Amino acid sequence: MEYSSQLEAKSAELGHTAKQLSEANEKLTRLSVQKDAFLSQISHELRTPMTSIRAFSEILRDMDALTPADQTRYASIIHDETLRLTRLLDDLLDLSVLENGQVALNMEPVNLHDVLNRAVSAALAPQDDVPIRILRNIVQEDVDLISDGDRLSQVFINLISNARKYCTASDPVLEVAIQKQGNDVWIDFTDNGDGIPSHQQPLVFEKFARLTDHARAGGAGLGLAICREIMNNLGGSVAYLPEQGGAAFRVVVPLKS
Ligand code: ADP
Repeated sequence: MEYSSQLEAKSAELGHTAKQLSEANEKLTRLSVQKDAFLSQISHELRTPMTSIRAFSEILRDMDALTPADQTRYASIIHDETLRLTRLLDDLLDLSVLENGQVALNMEPVNLHDVLNRAVSAALAPQDDVPIRILRNIVQEDVDLISDGDRLSQVFINLISNARKYCTASDPVLEVAIQKQGNDVWIDFTDNGDGIPSHQQPLVFEKFARLTDHARAGGAGLGLAICREIMNNLGGSVAYLPEQGGAAFRVVVPLKS
């Protein structure tokens, strides 16, 4: 009797181990599929600039009768594509450091309005044909935080640059609203463009999320994935706010971490 109950216990234990092994195996398969997809996306993103760098450098090397204007134009293309590659590699590296929690944060007292002012100056481009207008809806005048000001500014720059790139209105406007909520501060960025269709909203924070209508805008689709990782590291969050008219993002920052 005792022997048979021992046998039953052993068999239950073995069944449990087999189930754990099968779950671990499924997880490994899933991770391997994700890794392959990620590598294939990276290769695709690298191939486009590499192809143009190769083609235009070959033209410069092999064609004798190029006008100086053409030489300058082709050299500029090579230069721009090199910058694009550098940006892509920097973003990939940043994302990997953030995802692995290896980022060194510089937590210190920061004034939210100073960080926002810096981000606005960095994100706006004087060469825009119709510059986006930034309206501020400030409920609290002074918001002092303990946070990493540079990382926070990186998130704001990304959201403001996206509004510049994707807001399709003829008179583009971005409203920035700041309000304290309990131990957090909410910073909402709402533009007056077309926004993001509801079926695509869950994708925007994924890596390489470049939604079909915007493929021409040139980004690799890593900006919002980086924003999400930064906010996770800072103990806050960033989310898309549906049904606000244009595109709307809410950044939540703890007042003290
Ligand atoms: P990208 O480098 O392509 O700009 P992001 O991760 O910053 O990458 O954004 C992902 C995608 O989300 C963009 O390609 C665009 O399709 C969409 N998106 C982001 N911000 C906005 C916005 N303000 N209005 C409309 N679409 C946006």
